[in-house]
Amino acid sequence: MQDFQAFKELLNSPRNIVIVTHHKPDADALGSSLGLAGFLRKKQHQVSVITPTDYPAFLQWMPGNDQVVIYNEGHQKRSKLLVEQSEMIFCLDFSSLHRINELGELVRASTGIKVLIDHHLDPEDFAEFTFWSTKAAATAELIFDLIVDLGEKDLIDADIAESLYAGIMTDTGSFKHSNTTEKIHRVAAELIELGADTHKVARLIYDSNSLERLQFTGFALSERLVVLKEFNTAYLAISSKDLSRFNSKTGDTEGLVNYALSIKGIILAAVIIDRGEVIKISFRSIGEFPVNELAQEHFEGGGHRNAAGGKSHLSLNETVDKFVKLLPHYQSKLDNHNKINADV
Ligand code: 5GP
Ligand code: MN
Repeated sequence: MQDFQAFKELLNSPRNIVIVTHHKPDADALGSSLGLAGFLRKKQHQVSVITPTDYPAFLQWMPGNDQVVIYNEGHQKRSKLLVEQSEMIFCLDFSSLHRINELGELVRASTGIKVLIDHHLDPEDFAEFTFWSTKAAATAELIFDLIVDLGEKDLIDADIAESLYAGIMTDTGSFKHSNTTEKIHRVAAELIELGADTHKVARLIYDSNSLERLQFTGFALSERLVVLKEFNTAYLAISSKDLSRFNSKTGDTEGLVNYALSIKGIILAAVIIDRGEVIKISFRSIGEFPVNELAQEHFEGGGHRNAAGGKSHLSLNETVDKFVKLLPHYQSKLDNHNKINADV
């Protein structure tokens, strides 16, 4: 690691700080950003959190949400000014500047000291300080570790603890995914000790469905789910008409891919959605199947081994076709013996 003492000293006098996170932030992206913002504000820094785009309503309870600057909602000029004037820029939960759209080039050009905190593969080399580990279950875990390493754990209050806990809860799939370590349970326990109400956070994130979202999920599962048994693969293809029929909002399709993956014997799951300007794809897998490679090699994307995303500029049908035609090339990796606990 770089000079931690120098990093610590930078934070010892009040500074203009910007925190940015990725396109369509999820609970880890927003929770780690607002958790860090809460901590830095307690240390008397001037902090702005900027997101490239909007994010789901079920994240908007997080303390500090009201002050988030959403770049593409008419705040381009303000964001540019904030980035230009910042002395430090924290980049959270993404590994490469293209993941923050137009903000990427603004950050690159800024004279502010860049700090990358992330748990994705292959971080781009643009930051002066990097706190990075693919072993971390969530970026929120790295934020917690950083605050502890700074010797300031006592500054974590219930608000900060709940934002960080939200990131950990969702990135581990409620402590179900293979990234659920003993350590992450310990961090969660410490956050509870520091005041996080975990029942409240779970209700706010998971039990805040609109009726339309629930009905959309029902429709998608009964009408759009395709299972390809020979490849242990399941996918859903959602048209823009499907989205408008159920008045779909940002976040309404989140988690849909996990239903496909929950089918017994399925190793690879995908949700392919026509977002109008682009086709967006979410991939999930179980065991050794590397969806990040699939996303990177064929769909301009990336992510983790078991959770990745990408995009396509073909039509929805052509994208589905491309995906299905790729499967025979992965046959050996899709064989059932690769699935952990296939028979459990
Ligand atoms: P999701 O399917 O939930 O959108 O994303 C799953 C994972 O893949 C996340 O870790 C996310 O950062 C990553 N990911 C999603 N879309 C993209 C993309 O277009 N490019 C890259 N590099 N990663 C992505
Ligand atoms: Mn994350």
